[in-house]
Amino acid sequence: MEEFDHKITTFGIRNRILVFTLIVTLVPLLGLGWAFYTQTKKLLQDKVELELHNISHFAQREAELWFKESAFNVRVFSNSFVISENLEHFITLTQSDDSLNSFKIATTVGVISEYLMLVQSQFQEYQRLLLLDDAGKIIAQSTQTQNDFTLPDDWKEQITQNKMLIGELGDNRLSNKASFIIATPIFSGKQEIIGLLAVESSITGLESLMQTVAHSESIQLSLLGKNGSILSSSSQGYTPGTPAHSGAESLAKLYNNPMRPATYISNQGAKVIGIFSPLPRLSWGIMMEKSYDLAFAEVMDLKNITLTIIAILLSIVAIAAFFLSYSILSPLKTLINGAIRVANGDLNVKLPIKQRDELGVTISVFNDMVIRLQKTRKQLEKLATVDSLTGLFNRKYLMESLALHVKRFTRHQTPFSILMADLDHFKKVNDRYGHLAGDAVLVKIADVFNDTLRSIDISGRYGGEEFLIILENTQEQEAWQTAERIRQAVEDSSVTMAGEIIKITISIGIATSSNKIMMNNGQLIGLADKALYEAKQNGRNRTVLYNSTSTDKTNAAKPQ
Ligand code: GH3
Ligand code: MG
Ligand code: MG
Repeated sequence: MEEFDHKITTFGIRNRILVFTLIVTLVPLLGLGWAFYTQTKKLLQDKVELELHNISHFAQREAELWFKESAFNVRVFSNSFVISENLEHFITLTQSDDSLNSFKIATTVGVISEYLMLVQSQFQEYQRLLLLDDAGKIIAQSTQTQNDFTLPDDWKEQITQNKMLIGELGDNRLSNKASFIIATPIFSGKQEIIGLLAVESSITGLESLMQTVAHSESIQLSLLGKNGSILSSSSQGYTPGTPAHSGAESLAKLYNNPMRPATYISNQGAKVIGIFSPLPRLSWGIMMEKSYDLAFAEVMDLKNITLTIIAILLSIVAIAAFFLSYSILSPLKTLINGAIRVANGDLNVKLPIKQRDELGVTISVFNDMVIRLQKTRKQLEKLATVDSLTGLFNRKYLMESLALHVKRFTRHQTPFSILMADLDHFKKVNDRYGHLAGDAVLVKIADVFNDTLRSIDISGRYGGEEFLIILENTQEQEAWQTAERIRQAVEDSSVTMAGEIIKITISIGIATSSNKIMMNNGQLIGLADKALYEAKQNGRNRTVLYNSTSTDKTNAAKPQ
C-alpha cells in the first residue's frame, strides 16, 4: 500500500506557545520595571542633590561663624591695654628726633613682641601674630624668623568697611600649609586707626569643622584655595597642593554654578556628584563629592532585584508554558500518529484517552471513526469475495483459494479435493418457471452447500449454475462421500414458486490433489470438468471421480 509522509515542517505549536507566553510576560514586566527604575532613579537623584545642597549651605554657615569667632578673638587681643598703650608710645617715639629713642623703641617693640608670643603660645592655630602700623608695615611679631608678610590688596577697604580683615596670605606665602590672615584695627584715644593686629592662622579648626559637617561617609569634602588647588581633603585620593580637577570643563561646571550639584568624572576617574560652595570673605571654597555608584546603590540593587524577579518569573512561565504545550501536544501527537497509521492503511488503531477535554473527545471521536472504517472495510472485503445472489464465494475468491491449496500441497503435501458441480437441465427451469424461479433454485443450492459442508470447506459459484467446492484435507474417498451427500440433498430438496414445486438435480465431478499430476489451478479444474462431463454423459444426477490411478478413465457411479 502507498505510504504517506506527514512531517511537521513549520514553527510548531510548542514554540508558538513558548514565544507567546514569553512576550506576554516580558513586555509588561520590562515596561513596568523600566518605568519604576527611571522613576526611582530620578527621585534618588533629587534626594542626593538636595542632600548635597543642604550640606553645602550648612558648611557655608558654619564656616562663616568660625571666621567670625576667630576675628572676635583677635579683636579681644587688639583691645588689650598692652597693645594700644605701647603702640601709641611707639608712634610717639618714632615721631620725635631724639637720638636716645632707638633704645626706647627697641624696648617697646620687645614688650609688644613678648605679649604677642604669649598669645601665640595659647592658640595652636596661630602661626604668627604681628603688630602693623597704619601703612601695613611690621612693627613687632611673635616669631623670630623675619618672613615676608603681605596684606591683601584691598585690606584698607576691608578694615574701614568691616572693622576687620579676613583674607588670604599674599601669593608668595601660599603653601601647602593653608593659612589665612585675620586683622583688626587698633584705635587711638581719638578713635583713629593707628595700626593693625594681624594673625596668621592655620585652618585646622576649619578643617575639623568641615569633617564633622561631612558626617556621611560617602561624602568627600575638600577645601579648595585660589585657582582650585586643594588645601585639604577628607579624601585619600586628593593630595594638598594639587589642582582639584584635571578637567577644566568639570571645574568650570562647579565654579560657575556655585551651590548647584553637577555630575562629572573626578580626578580619580570615578563618576561623582559634586557641589561647590564658596567660602565667605575668601576666594576659597568647599567642594563636596559623593560617589555616583554609592548614591545610586539603591537603584542598582533595585535593578538587580527587578532583573532577578524577571528571571524567576520567566522560568516559572516557561515551565508553565512547557506543561501547557505538553498537555496539548501529547494528545495531539497521539492523534497524529494514529491518523498516519490509518492513512497508511492500518485500521488496527485504538488510541488511549487520558483526558476528557476537547482533545480527549477528539481522540474518542477518532476511535469511533476507525471502528466505522473497520466495519466498512470488512463489508467491502466481503462484497469483493462474495457472490451477491447466493452469498457463496465468487469465482475470483475461489481461484485464489485454489491456488493457495495447490501451493500448500506442493510444499507440505496437505491433500485436498475439488468438486465441480453443474445443475442438470437448468435451462429448462428458467424456460418453464422463469428466471426468478431459476434464481431461487440457485439460492436453494447454496443453502444445501452450507448445510452439508464443514465450516473449513469452501464453496463458491464458479459461473452461471456451476459451482466449485474445495474440500480441505480430503482424500478421494471422503470427497466422493461428500459429493454424494450433496447430490442426494439437492435431489431431495425442492423450491416452491407460485404454488409449483420445482425439483432439480446436480451432477458433480471430483478431482483430488496428487503427485502424479501437474498441480495447478487449470489442471485440477480441467480434471474435475472431465469428471463432470462424464457425469452428464452418463445420465446426470451422479458423481464421477476423476481417477488419477487409472490412465484417464473416470470412475463413475450412479447410486440408486
Ligand atoms: P445441462 O444439464 O447440460 O447442464 O443443461 P443446462 O440446461 O443446465 O445447460 P446450459 O449450460 O446450456 O444452461 C445453463 C443455463 O443456466 C443457461 C442460463 O440461462 C442459465 N443461467 C445461468 N446463470 C443464471 C442465473 O444466474 N439465473 C438464472 N435464472 N439462470 C441462469
Ligand atoms: Mg452449465
Ligand atoms: Mg447445467
